[in-house]
Amino acid sequence: MRAADDRAIAEVVRHLKGGGIAAVPTETVYGLAADAANPGAVAKVFRAKGRPAANPLIVHVTGAEMAARYAEVSPLAGRLMARFWPGPLTLVLPKRADALLTGAVTAGLPTVALRAPDHPVMQAVILGLGRGVAAPSANVSGRLSPTRADHVAGLDVPLVLDAGPCRVGLESSIVKVEGDRLVLLRPGSLDAATLAAAAGVAVETAAGASTAAPQAPGMAFRHYAPRLPLDLDVTEAQPGRFLIGFGAVAGDLSLSPGGDLDEAAARLFDALHRAEASGAARIGVAPIPVTGAGAAIRDRLVRAAAGSTGQG
Ligand code: AMP
Ligand code: MG
Repeated sequence: MRAADDRAIAEVVRHLKGGGIAAVPTETVYGLAADAANPGAVAKVFRAKGRPAANPLIVHVTGAEMAARYAEVSPLAGRLMARFWPGPLTLVLPKRADALLTGAVTAGLPTVALRAPDHPVMQAVILGLGRGVAAPSANVSGRLSPTRADHVAGLDVPLVLDAGPCRVGLESSIVKVEGDRLVLLRPGSLDAATLAAAAGVAVETAAGASTAAPQAPGMAFRHYAPRLPLDLDVTEAQPGRFLIGFGAVAGDLSLSPGGDLDEAAARLFDALHRAEASGAARIGVAPIPVTGAGAAIRDRLVRAAAGSTGQG
């Protein structure tokens, strides 16, 4: 683990240019970065995470200009980029025939998922490499996402850049642009209503985006699983159960005593990591409203609860 200063960033860039992988902070979660054009490097990412080959990776770009090297950017997609980039929005777009991407990144799909992260360290890494950086979350596939550098522990990665806790703390919202339709594949801190208002078109929700079976590659229902059984909508303390509070429910620790959903999102994964490490036999989580970032928090918790009881 290294503080993410200029020297460490330069070392990561050299390492990525040589086909290596490194864990790098973004505003959403810590990512496991590789040169998206390098088959060997991308293979290392899949291997380190134990990620199924059918689950494509998000390609991180500096902005709209770099995105146009990889995807057909329609006016609608361009509007979303102008409004939300850099930021926690991933756009799934038609892949350009001449895109310099190794096939494993898109899992052989005709589309590519692109995002411009709003974090100076990740931006510097992409700029240094000079091309797209493939980066899924820096955790073992199916386990809790890392929102602090020490959460990356357990992953076989030679370099971890530490820039403190992630500001957003939830993985990006993923929107597929299909002509003039927008389909929300994964909820994030940007909710469907905010996206729809900015785009001027309705945002449909993919059937699998929240609680149902997977509809798109990688939308595995069982995901974000803590090591312990997890109970939702818990308001009462119970011996042996670590209670993650919110608002009026204080719990053993609170996602946000004042009931702020963005604050809760930023603290969610760290709270789950702490609950796992607490020695408790179960985890309970207080009720979370499903407005704004709350919908994405709920999505992660429902998946965590399902994983913990062995469903899906
Ligand atoms: P992660 O890297 O774990 O944040 O997850 C990236 C997710 O983006 C995948 O699990 C897919 O659900 C989604 N994704 C990436 N590329 C595509 C694509 N070409 N089409 C649809 N979904 C994609
Ligand atoms: Mg992930």
